[in-house]
Amino acid sequence: MDKKILKIGITGGIGSGKTTACRIFETLGIPVYYADDRAKALMVDNPILVKNIKNLFGEQAYATDGSLNRIYIAEIAFHNPLKLKELNGVVHPAVWQDGEDWHNAQKHAPYTLKEAALLFESGGNKLMDKIITVVAPVEMRIERVLLRGGGTMSRSDVEARIAKQLSDEEKIKQSDFVISNDGSQALIPQILKIHQTLLDLK
Ligand code: ATP
Repeated sequence: MDKKILKIGITGGIGSGKTTACRIFETLGIPVYYADDRAKALMVDNPILVKNIKNLFGEQAYATDGSLNRIYIAEIAFHNPLKLKELNGVVHPAVWQDGEDWHNAQKHAPYTLKEAALLFESGGNKLMDKIITVVAPVEMRIERVLLRGGGTMSRSDVEARIAKQLSDEEKIKQSDFVISNDGSQALIPQILKIHQTLLDLK
């Protein structure tokens, strides 16, 4: 029988440093599934998902070259919470399935990491063996995103995003590990400690 490879979820609010933390895990040889990036790709490449999105939003959801009409979809979903819920209802299961298939293909890893901003909000946490949350103060997160963004997101855009995400306090309650990325503790030692604990669980 194949040995069980643990599935670890890693989450955190916008700008908390999830991706930065994942890059460090990658240097330790841990495969990382970036759910938000994969979701964007699947919305274009997965024929069943494309069909479901067209059923919800019409043919205009896609441009003639097959690319997703993000502005059109975002505009509808922003003003219509039911449509947003329906969109999530088709996207999240497709990403879960894709993430499961990806995990099952990682035969030689001690464990895998799944990075998702909305891990708890999407219910994806239920598929994970352990959960890591990356936390940092809200003001620091806003400043990091504004610095990173190259002007694509305004302060109010970031604040609106934060308002829709579960608070750090709520996430911490439901997590097995917390990485503090407020500048007071270096990331690498915190990650090495979690990594060792996860290796010892095997
Ligand atoms: P998102 O949810 O938007 O994808 P994220 O949680 O993945 O964000 P990152 O992209 O890792 O966050 O980090 C946000 C920005 O802050 C990046 O530009 C990153 O380089 C920077 N950053 C992360 N951690 C630190 C740190 N400890 N010190 C300084 N800058 C940092």
